[in-house]
Amino acid sequence: MLGAYIHIPFCKKICNYCDFCKMLYFPKYIDKYLDELAKEIVDRYKGEELDSIYIGGGTPSSLSTEELDKLLSIISILKLKDKYEYTIECNIEDITIDKINLFMSYGINRISFGVQSFDDNNAKKMGREHNEDMVFDNIYLTKKYFNNINIDLIYGVNENIDVVKNDIRKFLELDIPHISCYSLILEEHTIFYINKFKSINEDIDSEMYSYISQTLVSHGYNHYEISNYARPGYESIHNKNYWLNGNYYGFGLGAVSYLDNYRISNTKNMTKYLKGEYQSKKDYEDVKTRKETDLMLGLRLSEGIDIDTFNNKYHTSLLEKDAIRELIDDNYLEVVDNHLRCNDKYLYTENSILTRIIDSDL
Ligand code: SF4
Repeated sequence: MLGAYIHIPFCKKICNYCDFCKMLYFPKYIDKYLDELAKEIVDRYKGEELDSIYIGGGTPSSLSTEELDKLLSIISILKLKDKYEYTIECNIEDITIDKINLFMSYGINRISFGVQSFDDNNAKKMGREHNEDMVFDNIYLTKKYFNNINIDLIYGVNENIDVVKNDIRKFLELDIPHISCYSLILEEHTIFYINKFKSINEDIDSEMYSYISQTLVSHGYNHYEISNYARPGYESIHNKNYWLNGNYYGFGLGAVSYLDNYRISNTKNMTKYLKGEYQSKKDYEDVKTRKETDLMLGLRLSEGIDIDTFNNKYHTSLLEKDAIRELIDDNYLEVVDNHLRCNDKYLYTENSILTRIIDSDL
């Protein structure tokens, strides 16, 4: 599998929880940025056919229709396989029929919306600009043209589980095939962190996670990754490639690529990027790091890691490793259909399992 991620760092407003690589939308930067992005793509892309393209940010949809036209025409030099996934991230308030038509004309077939919460007070607390009516109106409009739609939700902004229950109920009402649900993480340098916003109690966070998982699964969604749920056939191809530790290009400010065992990070400094100094780091990953990364990412998937694939790739025998055997004996990991996976009960606490694996001799 091979994907391409394109980063558009501009946002109309900065959300209180956000630690992504972003800056305020400033019209005079856009053309220069897109010109430089075009150069980077021409410079680095080797012409392979891709399984997926993902335009993320920032807020790609914050660009005007003309700017988006320029962006999509730049990206159109990337070749796609016959069966592909092509996603663009959008904010609810940016959606117009002109943008929808433009997306379709360039072959985009998946829209991912940053909703975060249907509760107007909760959304406002996070710094979002939309309200519930706008979410419904603009997603119903989008549904007339796209069937593959995702929304992102954030829970744990306050300890009231009724807000989470309402968010999930509204999502189910929208009847769309994919949702990503993330617990609020208070990252350094965010507005929440600076304002000393308090995290919620861990037990309540865990209760919210269980509620979300049980409710969505009972409504036919496959809980295919720790934070992701999809109707059968709508699992994200692009994101699954990340969890399988596959190869991908990352173009644009702060984007990361993983190609031929090299993890390549682009600069997060706009001035440097606009001067054509794209790359800030290029690290070769040795076999131990690759094995750990395969496990760290693969165990996020509910189907887990294909044991034969892992063994063939690394000429090893995964199930004979002491740390893995102990975790199976302790019931944290299990083998199902020749896959090594986290026991459902412990998917939420996957990090503590990983610590035991990474501290061991693989
Ligand atoms: S969460 Fe999205 S829209 Fe909000 S500031 Fe971050 S990148 Fe921009």
